[in-house]
Amino acid sequence: MEKLRIDKILSGQMNLSRGEVKKMIAMGQVVVNGVPVRSPAEKADPLSDEIKADGEIISYKEHIYIMLNKPAGVVSATRDNKTKTVLDLVPPALWRRDLFPAGRLDKDTVGFVLITDDGALAHRMLAPKSHVPKTYLVVIDKPIGGAEIQRLESGIDIGGGEVCKKARVTVVKEGEQPTVEVVISEGMYHQIKRMFEAVGCKVIHLKRIKIGALPLDESLPEGACKEIINKDVEKLL
Ligand code: URA
Repeated sequence: MEKLRIDKILSGQMNLSRGEVKKMIAMGQVVVNGVPVRSPAEKADPLSDEIKADGEIISYKEHIYIMLNKPAGVVSATRDNKTKTVLDLVPPALWRRDLFPAGRLDKDTVGFVLITDDGALAHRMLAPKSHVPKTYLVVIDKPIGGAEIQRLESGIDIGGGEVCKKARVTVVKEGEQPTVEVVISEGMYHQIKRMFEAVGCKVIHLKRIKIGALPLDESLPEGACKEIINKDVEKLL
């Protein structure tokens, strides 16, 4: 990997300002391959050089991928004047400067939101051409028949000139208010709610449980985050 300025590497990896890194360097707390760094402008290869800050080896990661189990009442934005955003739920240990949610859930939708600073991966994941499947558990207000399921599966007109692609629809819990698993490979505005509206049903609870082949970790409480590592990142596409 190309060499980068040491202050850039450390501010990115440790979520410190360049000023804070400069102070650490001045105090002799930053060491590259056993040699104390003397200037923030010194360069190092973050993959092949051993970089220690305050005695700890920095294991360099170019990007971070975070699974959030989004609660209701939080918006999928980076900033909002009135409402808590998904970024407000990222704990300091996972924080990076350029984080954003890759894909949106409605304010009242819960479940898997990917938060990352990897713009290229987000672009690949969200591009209409990539057809990354997203799986939802949907609780609806009334029983649904086979004909309606077939309409949903074969690509339904949701109004506003928008027609969905094929979807996979499975009733996973029968009853007065059934739970239906729906897999779609697009992300049109309010798509799931509009799909069910088009067959005369109202969505009363909506949860995203999988992106690509990566399921939401069910042990993750609502509002909590965990880092997605190694092979699991590839499952997002
Ligand atoms: N479809 C919706 O209607 N809302 C979401 O939040 C996600 C998919």
